[in-house]
Amino acid sequence: MQLTEILSNTKKTLFSIEILPPLKGKSIQSIFDGIDPLMEFKPAFVDVTYHREEYVYKKREGGYLEKVSIRKRPGTVGICAAIMNKYPVEAVPHIICGGFTKEETENALIDLHFLGIDNVLALRGDSIKTEPAFVPEPGGHHYAYDLVQQINEMNQGKFMDEEMKEVEPTKFCIGVAGYPEKHFEAPNLFSDIKWLKAKIDAGANYIVTQMFFDNQKYFDFVKLCRDNGITVPIIPGLKMFNTKKQLTILPKIFHIDIPQELYEAVVACKDDKQVKEVGIQWCIKQSQELMKANVPCLHYYTMGTAEATRRVAKEVF
Ligand code: FAD
Repeated sequence: MQLTEILSNTKKTLFSIEILPPLKGKSIQSIFDGIDPLMEFKPAFVDVTYHREEYVYKKREGGYLEKVSIRKRPGTVGICAAIMNKYPVEAVPHIICGGFTKEETENALIDLHFLGIDNVLALRGDSIKTEPAFVPEPGGHHYAYDLVQQINEMNQGKFMDEEMKEVEPTKFCIGVAGYPEKHFEAPNLFSDIKWLKAKIDAGANYIVTQMFFDNQKYFDFVKLCRDNGITVPIIPGLKMFNTKKQLTILPKIFHIDIPQELYEAVVACKDDKQVKEVGIQWCIKQSQELMKANVPCLHYYTMGTAEATRRVAKEVF
């Protein structure tokens, strides 16, 4: 079922999660172990992230270095199909521009369509670690906007291969990313919102936000979106603080601010066990306030914190 249909069928705030594919070599059971403890809260959907290749330099005989492309985690098509086969839940694969030609994207989307996977989150993806800025694949998309356009065209029965006859249109419900604290490359929040609106006008149906730890940032972002004619559901993304190190890692990777009160509470912790507790309590408070504001869904970035997410969900849902 399309996610927007699920959202419009209820007035309640729904529960959803995002998971990471396991490292290559691990079994699908490691995914199920992360989902099982959360199924009692009836997630509306499970997002599965996509991780593009990285380049490493391997020392070869004679001392020269060979640049080798490696992928540490498998793709999302098989994982999403396995999740939907096991649980009564919609699995949402993240589709990224980076590393794919338009043809490869079309083929992946055709596979998803055959598997009955009707929801996707369309993203640009970040640059490869060794590159200073995002470089599209030759023949690939530069922005999520272009990817949304391609998916929307497939929804209208327009495929890249013009020779195709009697084409069955796909019926993807398309989600895109939004940034309450601005995407790090955007010169300002207004230009970021302009491009976010372009993704919606190109056919995207809902927005999932980057994590934030200060609800006011989300409320202000939603208002700005609404003032700029963005009317689709805006799903807040939440993460639990887990370790002290995250005080520097999260702002560095995700370009977000840690509120003073949370910062002080984490700094005062003796160890990461205490930090986890602070993270859970903070997330419960955030969730309850967002629920009171009638948000469509609370989306949790579980990232190996299924047990902590369970504790939050038990208090909130
Ligand atoms: P875009 O919407 O393309 O925006 C990128 C930047 O370009 C922004 O600054 C925007 O303002 C600007 N811009 C957009 N369109 C245009 C245009 N036409 N002309 C000029 N400027 C433009 N990454 C992964 O690799 N895998 C994942 O699974 C993944 N999941 C994510 C899930 C969520 C909910 C979020 C919030 C992020 C996720 N990311 C993931 C990270 C994401 O790929 C990065 O944040 C990336 O840098 C931007 O992706 P985007 O889709 O927002 O890009």
